[in-house]
Amino acid sequence: MDNTSVDEDSCDYLFKTVLIGDSAVGKSNLLSRFAKDEFCLDSKPTIGVEFAYRNTKVGDKTVKAQIWDTAGQERFRAITSSYYRGALGAMLVYDITRRGTFENLKKWLHELREFGDRDMVIVLVGNKSDLIDLREVDVEDGQKLAQLENLCFMETSAKDNLNVEDAFLQMITKIYEIASQKSL
Ligand code: GDP
Repeated sequence: MDNTSVDEDSCDYLFKTVLIGDSAVGKSNLLSRFAKDEFCLDSKPTIGVEFAYRNTKVGDKTVKAQIWDTAGQERFRAITSSYYRGALGAMLVYDITRRGTFENLKKWLHELREFGDRDMVIVLVGNKSDLIDLREVDVEDGQKLAQLENLCFMETSAKDNLNVEDAFLQMITKIYEIASQKSL
């Protein structure tokens, strides 16, 4: 991402969030869609952590979210506790066309709860909702897991730009609500 400069004075709140989930579920494209409104059909994972910023208005406040992307590290199980450190929110992504990426969510949730902040806001995202004919995970499966684990849930398409903005905004708004309550 080239969107890495930050002016802390230009916002009321600044916080870190992370993207997690199996390889090739669409994390990088969700991020570039949200941060830059771009989609890349043959995006190749690059190695190393990348991040992007985006300002959002929540009520009359300007909230700047710093969103970290694993940038392919999950392939080598190389994500360490430092990736999660200080993160107030996580977007946990699976691919609705690959059942295995849904089955692996348990592993990701375990890792999140081990390394992440206790109050971390987690949004579960079933991506690639445009690929209707290839679907292997029903919407109800995502909803049930979200209910069981107390997560927010949404299906998205980074390709067709469906619900991407909503999913990030849901996470950011929730974090803001928790952060502003704490500072009361
Ligand atoms: P990451 O490894 O989780 O960061 O996944 P990428 O963002 O690199 O995406 C992996 C592949 O899935 C790429 O070929 C993307 O073009 C494709 N992809 C990502 N999101 C979508 C989507 O919403 N719909 C479709 N059809 N393909 C997608």
